[in-house]
Amino acid sequence: MKSKVILTALLSVSLMACAQETPKVKHKKAKTAVKSDAKPVKFANATDPICNMPTEADMKDTAVYKNKTYGFCSAYCRDEFKKNPEKYVQK
Ligand SMILES: [Zn+2]
Repeated sequence: MKSKVILTALLSVSLMACAQETPKVKHKKAKTAVKSDAKPVKFANATDPICNMPTEADMKDTAVYKNKTYGFCSAYCRDEFKKNPEKYVQK
């Protein structure tokens, strides 16, 4: 029964092909899980000069002073900075 051997061989090949599909799906899932590649903003200040809190890249309250972007924890700190930036920018 040669045909039965061929059939078995074909069946096992298709099963293997099926098994090989699984990693592809996993890979696709992993890719979707990757965060958006938006570049984090680099602030000129490592810490909020008003409250001394470390600045983070996703801070929304920012002020530009002398072509440098400064990040603040809140609108309050940003406004305080804007009132007197010279006081807070040290060089
Ligand atoms: Zn602050």
